[in-house]
Amino acid sequence: QYAWMREPAVSQLFKAFPKGQLRFVGGCVRNALMGEAVADVDLATPLTPDAVIKVLDAASIRHIPTGIDHGTVTVIIDGKPYEVTSLRKDVETDGRRAVVAFTTDWTEDAYRRDLTMNALYADFDGTVYDPCGQGVDDLKARRFRFVGDADARVREDYLRILRFFRFIAWYGSTHKDGQGVIDADALRACRENAKGLKTLSAERIWSETKKLLSAPDPCRAVRIMLTNDILDTLLPEASNSVGLDAIVALERREAIKPDPLLRLMAMGAREPLAIVLLTKRLKMSNSESTRLRAWADDATALDPNADDRTKRIAIYTAGKQVIIDRARIRAAGSDDPIKSSRWMSLADLAMGWTRPTFPLTGKDLIKAGVEPGEAMGKKMAALKALWVRSGFSVDKDKLLMALKLLG
Ligand code: ATP
Ligand code: MG
Repeated sequence: QYAWMREPAVSQLFKAFPKGQLRFVGGCVRNALMGEAVADVDLATPLTPDAVIKVLDAASIRHIPTGIDHGTVTVIIDGKPYEVTSLRKDVETDGRRAVVAFTTDWTEDAYRRDLTMNALYADFDGTVYDPCGQGVDDLKARRFRFVGDADARVREDYLRILRFFRFIAWYGSTHKDGQGVIDADALRACRENAKGLKTLSAERIWSETKKLLSAPDPCRAVRIMLTNDILDTLLPEASNSVGLDAIVALERREAIKPDPLLRLMAMGAREPLAIVLLTKRLKMSNSESTRLRAWADDATALDPNADDRTKRIAIYTAGKQVIIDRARIRAAGSDDPIKSSRWMSLADLAMGWTRPTFPLTGKDLIKAGVEPGEAMGKKMAALKALWVRSGFSVDKDKLLMALKLLG
């Protein structure tokens, strides 16, 4: 699992920096020590962003000043981005986001991070640094705890509440005891400051919520959020943890990869007006809100016992994704294994389905002697309805024959 540390790009980067002036930090160190996959490699340096840019230019390494104000320079090597962030310390805060200043002190930088297990650094040779002195032990025990005073840290940046539960969701269940340890002060701080979540920007909330709901097993984290009145503040429309348990169990059984939107649906997000408000409040992307709205807008009746032709017509009419979503939710919600497997085979049929194209065009009709105009449009629609009802089986020749019958 340490392969990413030895990537040519990473070693090129460490060679460019003066010795000891660049370290791995955050998620990559944490996950390497846990034996978990590493998604992105974050790096920290006591050099200022200007000095970082000089170092990179001297080594002819491509870079983009992604967040110069926050001290982040994104390096691109072999087409892959690496974030190099200058050491920082917290100076003040409005709770929506911590305000930081640069420092050359690794310990100061560690103390402005969120969880003890996230305040770890590592050299290129693998030496681990734990400036706060609790990170490595907490990581081994999967103890989820804030660096320093929990209440103060949460008030500095309320997003830390969601990050706290995100890490429990991701790494609690992979511990050998299946849950890890939740620090009591941290949990109290999250509960007592839950209202602060309302002050965060929609973008930060939604992106963090999606990460939380993408964990292999977020059930325990979500249940704790529920019993501590945090879920209700965050997602009043979707706080049914039993529904979440069921969909996660189904995903396991059917080898479906964790799907945050499907999980949100299973958590009870259903009523059309509430869904519209939810998608707007969290500023979801167009594709996300379209998918959620389609799910809530339960227009077509769906019968898992229908024949394949009827099912295909339903998929064509309602759309593939909404059928998959509805069938999976019903499969997860059913106590009867036979019913559940019927819903699953409907979902699988929709998964493997490709939208058929109507074999006739306007040109074909003109060739067959139909005058362009409103009447032609009507004929086309009638033929299309015929084609749909056949389960998309009638071909062009048969449709042209039918055209004659239409007169
Ligand atoms: P992953 O990248 O696997 O999702 P990560 O821990 O690396 O997890 P990032 O969002 O990439 O998470 O942040 C990198 C590091 O920056 C964290 O490990 C943590 O030390 C620090 N950090 C990020 N967000 C915050 C925050 N809101 N408050 C305090 N520290 C933070
Ligand atoms: Mg990261």
